Amino acid sequence: MSIILQTPLSELSSQRQALMQAYRMDEDTCLEHLLSVLDLKDSELKNIHDRAYALVKDMRGKREGKTGLDSFLQQYQLSTDEGIALMCLAEALLRIPDTATRDKLIHDKLGSGDWQDYRGQSASMFVNAATWGLLLTGHFSAWSDLGEPYFHHALKRFVARSGQPVVRKVVGYAMQILGKQFVMGETIQAALKRAQKMEKMGYRFSYDMLGEGACTDADALRYYDSYHQSILAIGKAADGLGPIAGPGISIKLSAIYPRYEFAQRVEASKIIGDRLLELAIAAKGQGLGLTVDAEESDRLDISLDIIERVFCDPALKGWEGFGLAIQSYQKRCLPLVHYLADVSKRANRRWMVRLIKGAYWDTEIKMAQERGLSDYPVFTRKRATDVSFLACAKTLLSYEKNFFPQFATHNAYSVAAVGNVGFAQGF
Ligand SMILES: Cc1cc2nc3c(=O)[nH]c(=O)nc-3n(C[C@H](O)[C@H](O)[C@H](O)COP(=O)(O)OP(=O)(O)OC[C@H]3O[C@@H](n4cnc5c(N)ncnc54)[C@H](O)[C@@H]3O)c2cc1C
Repeated sequence: MSIILQTPLSELSSQRQALMQAYRMDEDTCLEHLLSVLDLKDSELKNIHDRAYALVKDMRGKREGKTGLDSFLQQYQLSTDEGIALMCLAEALLRIPDTATRDKLIHDKLGSGDWQDYRGQSASMFVNAATWGLLLTGHFSAWSDLGEPYFHHALKRFVARSGQPVVRKVVGYAMQILGKQFVMGETIQAALKRAQKMEKMGYRFSYDMLGEGACTDADALRYYDSYHQSILAIGKAADGLGPIAGPGISIKLSAIYPRYEFAQRVEASKIIGDRLLELAIAAKGQGLGLTVDAEESDRLDISLDIIERVFCDPALKGWEGFGLAIQSYQKRCLPLVHYLADVSKRANRRWMVRLIKGAYWDTEIKMAQERGLSDYPVFTRKRATDVSFLACAKTLLSYEKNFFPQFATHNAYSVAAVGNVGFAQGF
């Protein structure tokens, strides 16, 4: 197995070469090719539109009269400044250990929102009450800066008298409720327990651990141990359902080694490869699926060296639960699908591939600009990412013997379009 860039380009497989050449290719050229692969007819576009419309209508209908939290999320959508402020708070607040910094964050995020525009807007009492809370908290935070006689109302005076600790507690509690929408549980046992009811309804889960990349080897070993313990716990709960019908686990390579970077590629590939193989053997032992998460684009080449080595290891023979996530916002995504199909044919084993769009767009753009590179590794137009997602979905589905494909998106149009592509191919 080659460590990338230590091997001359000509010695790599033609699929791997094509993948490398697409790294920062011209966006329009790349897109033209993707559109020709996709080749959607007008009638198909209409079907997709109608299906997406029906999906959204159905979802909205189901939400009516449901929990206050659904109404809350519908009211404060991510397309608004207030929605973004709340999500930033929910994401960061619970992880800040000291109260002074917590207060500053609440002040920063809630102080500038236009909460009064939302008063009485929702049909839900919960949302309207929460909006009042946010409005007061926002005013309170802003007021502490302005020093103006802001609070006339008795309730406002109560909040002012109660002081920052009360505000912190209330906001912290609200954020915990909001966080539950995105975090299944604080421990794997809690998450497995919460999943039980939905599993009975036909949902399947892939468990992901929240956390940043490891900074020290002690961190990495701790994460490794958590992954290992989680595999055992999920395996026990799965009770032999297998990688497709049962739950699985997602692993971040940056969590199991602190120097997962290009400059350290030889050492990193070896150690991460060894650790990943041990985790994969444990997942195989439990009959689970294990998916390697996709991270920043400059890690793709190292990750492929590691993943190919582990995937082909004889110790995993007979297990078809090994998978990886691939990002359609990268210009290399389609060549990556062909490369993975080639590896699968050589190993005579099927991959589980999770097609996603990619979560690091801002970072990718910023990094390319900072380094003064000739072009970006990701598309610069959202529509291009969506077209790539569908062209890759169609190609994944065409390699029936090599992949068990999974499509991860919250976008109703993408869901409808993947359904259409799959339907057209007889799936
Ligand atoms: C089960 C699951 C697993 C996931 N695992 C991973 C993972 O391992 N690694 C990872 O990176 N992400 C992962 N994600 C997140 C995923 O990549 C997307 O960020 C997220 O799902 C939003 O995409 P969407 O299709 O739902 O939404 P949409 O709103 O349809 O699409 C958002 C996508 O468009 C891209 N985009 C926005 N503006 C532009 C632009 N101007 N030009 C080009 N592209 C643009 C964004 O970067 C994002 O990728 C996962 C998501 C799910 C649901």
